[in-house]
Amino acid sequence: MIQDLHSHTYYSFCGKDTPESIVEAAIAGGIEVFGISDHNYGIGYARYDVFLSDEEQKLHKTYERTLKRYFDHINLIKEKYAGQIEVKRGIELCTLHDGVSFRSHSLPDDADISYFDYCLIENVDHPISVTKGDIFTYRKRLATPVAGIAHTDMFRFIRALGEDPLAYFSRMAEENIFWEMNVSYDSIHNYRIHQYMVDFFDSPEQQEIVRRSGVRVSIGFDGHRVEDYLPERVREYNDRLTALGILKPFE
Ligand SMILES: [Zn+2]
Ligand SMILES: [Zn+2]
Repeated sequence: MIQDLHSHTYYSFCGKDTPESIVEAAIAGGIEVFGISDHNYGIGYARYDVFLSDEEQKLHKTYERTLKRYFDHINLIKEKYAGQIEVKRGIELCTLHDGVSFRSHSLPDDADISYFDYCLIENVDHPISVTKGDIFTYRKRLATPVAGIAHTDMFRFIRALGEDPLAYFSRMAEENIFWEMNVSYDSIHNYRIHQYMVDFFDSPEQQEIVRRSGVRVSIGFDGHRVEDYLPERVREYNDRLTALGILKPFE
């Protein structure tokens, strides 16, 4: 099954296109399961007046409303293209928060996202991540059926924690946490290849650990503009995972 579980629409500040146009590009590109995963802060701060407001209460109520409005829109898209592509309802969570800087974009503590099909969690290895490097506790609070760790060199992250990679990946598998492998090569990422992904596909040792642990790995282009999309790249890496005997989420 060819999957792409990482994409952005105009619900993200950094995304340009309508959900319709990115789904149509995925269909044309031979993608079978397509996840829309807009940034939580783009969705939550969807209205400029809210973005400017610092009234905690008002911000919070509207955050919930905008999350639901995004979810409802993705549901319409899912129905519209049913039979052509399986659309998954996702959200990408920034976990940066220091309470002061403009970069404090993490999900409000009690915002409910449990009704999404999945979430992607980013910045887990950053010093001001609200996860404090503990993906298991944070993942429980999110309560989505599955959750992915995005933009992270997992082998380096696990080594920095002093944990054993096989044991750590096995626990991820048990707790329905997958590793999102970012294969983007686009304007937003400055046409840069992600080294941890290249390392993984070059390393039979890493592949063996991942396969034995049973952790699922997803391929995500992390597209932000339809004109940058490279579905052949997504298909190629899906096929490489399948050839390695590694399962993807939603299989
Ligand atoms: Zn983005
Ligand atoms: Zn993204």
